[in-house]
Amino acid sequence: MVQEQLQEVTTRIKAACERVGRDPSEVTLVAVSKTKPVEMIREAYDAGAREFGENKVQEMMEKYDKLPDDIHWHMIGHLQRNKVKYLIGKTCLIHSVDSYRLAQEISAQSVKHETDTDILIEVNIAGEETKFGLSREETISLVEEAAKLPRIHIKGLMVVAPFVDDPEDNRPYFKEIKELSVDIASKKIDNVTMCMLSMGMTGDFEVAIEEGATLVRVGTGIFGERNYS
Ligand SMILES: *Cc1c(COP(=O)(O)O)cnc(C)c1O
Repeated sequence: MVQEQLQEVTTRIKAACERVGRDPSEVTLVAVSKTKPVEMIREAYDAGAREFGENKVQEMMEKYDKLPDDIHWHMIGHLQRNKVKYLIGKTCLIHSVDSYRLAQEISAQSVKHETDTDILIEVNIAGEETKFGLSREETISLVEEAAKLPRIHIKGLMVVAPFVDDPEDNRPYFKEIKELSVDIASKKIDNVTMCMLSMGMTGDFEVAIEEGATLVRVGTGIFGERNYS
């Protein structure tokens, strides 16, 4: 089942790219495996998936130990500073950096482990109070400040858009994040590339791709509904 759904999502990604004249190789599918067992991840792996996303450090570490080491692990969830030390060297990209203090800790741990860590800055343009992430102005100042820290590289922005019935409702947010990323790129800040845009989930990844996403984070669409009970 995982294999078929993965295939279907991949086909839909290609179609979305074609609609707007993008090359599908520009879009990375991150299979969001949080709460799902290792066996299901293995199924996706056997079908060719190598990029997996988790939102809890402990869960990611447990899976990291049990699965092949050519998997790229993406940290997509809210991250506490005291957990950063476990992640460094084991994650390919931290999507959810939303404070200078967190960036500082990722930098300090990367220095300590003599490695580099790629990060995205989490933006919350919808301004929803229940979510993590920064406003437009906060994002720009965090990028400028964090860019000076050693051993971390700011690669772009990430957004968790609101849950909506009609994905078209999120198009304006995706457009706005893309614009923000272009604005920041035009500042030509050292150590900042803005080559990545992590946006779009099961309900809205096609619209996100049409608006410029380079990473889509799809969980339910690949692994089915999550059961938190
Ligand atoms: C769970 C999660 C996803 C995947 O959500 P689906 O709707 O299941 O595709 C994507 N991004 C983040 C940050 C998540 O926490």
